[in-house]
Amino acid sequence: MSSNEPHLAGFFQLELRQWLTKAGWPAFRAQQVFHWIHRRAICEFREAGNLPGSLRAWLQEHAIFPSLYERRRQTSQDGTVKYLFGLGDGETIEAVMIPDEHRTTVCVSTQVGCAMGCTFCATGQMGLHRQLNPAEIISQVLHVQHSHTAGPVTHVVFMGMGEPLANYAAAIKALQLLHDPQGLNISYRRMTVSTCGLVPEIRQLAGEGLPITLAVSLHAPDDQRRSAIMPINRRYPLAELLPACASYAEDTSRRLTFEYALVKGFNDTKNDARLLAERIRDIHCHVNLIPVNSVHDTYQAPTAGDIDRFLSILVDRGIQASVRRERGADIDGACGQLRQREEG
Ligand code: SAH
Ligand code: SF4
Repeated sequence: MSSNEPHLAGFFQLELRQWLTKAGWPAFRAQQVFHWIHRRAICEFREAGNLPGSLRAWLQEHAIFPSLYERRRQTSQDGTVKYLFGLGDGETIEAVMIPDEHRTTVCVSTQVGCAMGCTFCATGQMGLHRQLNPAEIISQVLHVQHSHTAGPVTHVVFMGMGEPLANYAAAIKALQLLHDPQGLNISYRRMTVSTCGLVPEIRQLAGEGLPITLAVSLHAPDDQRRSAIMPINRRYPLAELLPACASYAEDTSRRLTFEYALVKGFNDTKNDARLLAERIRDIHCHVNLIPVNSVHDTYQAPTAGDIDRFLSILVDRGIQASVRRERGADIDGACGQLRQREEG
């Protein structure tokens, strides 16, 4: 098998049908194969009982499946499970499953590494190794669905390793595949794409007509500090990013999420909270305050008291905001950390 073979999990059902019939297989096999991969989330064709052996053998030879395999798993005391997946070329990526009372969320990676270089981010420190294809993105969800027996995956967030909007076409196709009613059938409203702020792609995404939630990583209330920790801000400063966010919320009628990682002594003062509130006042949004996850000693989270103070200032000014409860703190919580540990 060469790397030119298609990834089976990355086909829309129609594409699968064209590909199979071109090779002489009956069209109805496409639905079966699609069903096995997406609905039953099988990990190997051995499990696909109603497919003839000849087709299974043919698929084995002519397509890549599965697109990833589990290399390591860490389970937190709070039920959060972190997966390290190996890819066909030996690269590794992470995904996290976060169970809650009424939902099961999977956080997926969209790239191996990331080119954006945010200083506080473990993934940013490794640079971009390569893009993930749609099959590699959705297979993270399929694998979790397969191994997590407690219930169906209800929510997917593109908040793992990588910048989804820098892998735009693959990210969109992955959303569409996850949404496919004959597949996992996850509502777009339960999917979130997080970006560091690629303005042209935010504007493009607004036109796709997918009612997903867009999350924008803000992390600082002014250009000087944002540029210091997020190099992308030098290309798209707040004067360009915030209007793009406002248009996105308006054009899609969807409330936008701003992520704001609180770093002690850097962006956590009363004044910073006031400045932030002022800048985003006119945008239909929710602010997620995230106590920074310390990847090295430079960045520490503020005290709980300081976090609460920051939150109340936003709320007092009419901004919807909440503090993201830390999950999986005992298992290398932030994305990029497990791989970092594994690779030494
Ligand atoms: N590249 C996208 C999505 C992946 S990162 C983005 O940047 O938005 C997902 C979220 O984790 C982002 O909000 C990112 O800023 C945040 N993040 C990265 N490292 C972190 C850390 N050490 N502590 C807290 N949040 C972090
Ligand atoms: Fe990339 Fe997001 Fe990490 Fe920045 S925070 S380096 S954009 S993954």
